[in-house]
Amino acid sequence: MSTAVLIVAAGRGTRAGSEIPKQYAVVGEKSVLARTVAAFRGLADIDPVLVVIADGEAARYRSALGDAAGALLPPVTGGATRQASVLAGLEALEPCKPRNVLIHDAARPFVKPETIRSVVAALATGPAAIAALPLADTLKRADGSGRVAGTIERAGLWRAQTPQGFHFAAILAAHREAVRQGLGDFTDDAAVAEWAGLPVTLVPGSAGNTKLTTAEDLSAADERLRHQMSGNLVPRTGTGFDVHRFAEGDHVWLCGVRVPHTHRLEGHSDADAPLHALTDAILGALGDGDIGQHFPPSDPKWKGAPSRLFLEDAARRVRDRGGRIVNVDVTILAEAPRIGPHREAMCDAIASILGIQRSRVGVKATTTEGLGFPGRREGLAALASATVLIPD
Ligand code: MG
Repeated sequence: MSTAVLIVAAGRGTRAGSEIPKQYAVVGEKSVLARTVAAFRGLADIDPVLVVIADGEAARYRSALGDAAGALLPPVTGGATRQASVLAGLEALEPCKPRNVLIHDAARPFVKPETIRSVVAALATGPAAIAALPLADTLKRADGSGRVAGTIERAGLWRAQTPQGFHFAAILAAHREAVRQGLGDFTDDAAVAEWAGLPVTLVPGSAGNTKLTTAEDLSAADERLRHQMSGNLVPRTGTGFDVHRFAEGDHVWLCGVRVPHTHRLEGHSDADAPLHALTDAILGALGDGDIGQHFPPSDPKWKGAPSRLFLEDAARRVRDRGGRIVNVDVTILAEAPRIGPHREAMCDAIASILGIQRSRVGVKATTTEGLGFPGRREGLAALASATVLIPD
């Protein structure tokens, strides 16, 4: 028994007080629309999913959904009203001939699978069913001057949510007939069904299935999701160490910066010891081997390679694990060249390679008081540490 999903994302969302319609706002590092679509994807017997968007919003739709867009039907352009947008979506679904359709607000990303399943289940015994909650607040009627003119008996009153589910043929016919009769003011699809004489079953929704409407709703959702996300992340720390020998030359690469010097550093790649140490620190925090394992010096591919490639790869591994880099810290052990004049450029380079804020990067240097191989200017050494947050 097939159930299609029609997500209505054609609103301009001006009440949220931003330039971006609320369905495209990002909450917890993901767009509201992507979260809403994800709530329906992967549920058994629920497919296809189609999103109705406003005219001119195709690019925004694609960037909000990313790769997830590929699993959906192509988006359909809506009309001037919600009712017109829903009808456009229903007409586009018509060739799929689904038995049922669930119509859902894009701005309700927190709908639970139980709610969706309950609405679908109710369609086994009737042509229409909506998620709704019994009213908890007392309702007042106001007069024109802001005074209470009366109290409304709340027994039997429900707040309609979405999804609202229907037998597809019945709701399509009802919408077409409403337009034919010039009726265009229905604020939800259950109202269209009621007008057409279809019995509508109430299914318990959930308090969390709210419609994100105001800027305050969006920022509260964002904060809550970020809190949840960071709750699942654990901090992990790694360290790295590297040495390269000086050879004849006129510059060295340190932390991605070309520094003029009386020698060069010998190595298979550009011999940027601090970036090698830092790459190892990040790999160490992930427990994911070391730089020599991922980029063997025996492989001619890495001859003369800029070491930023190695560090970019380590940063990508953190992102692929769903993690992020909290901070990195590098110490260079050398009598020369002097690091101070290049420190800012080095921090900037590392921040840019890792895609993190400059304030999360430390670069320091010390001599070894003339002792050991750095003291004898035979080479230089670098130490690094990295802290990452990754899902437990
Ligand atoms: Mg090295």
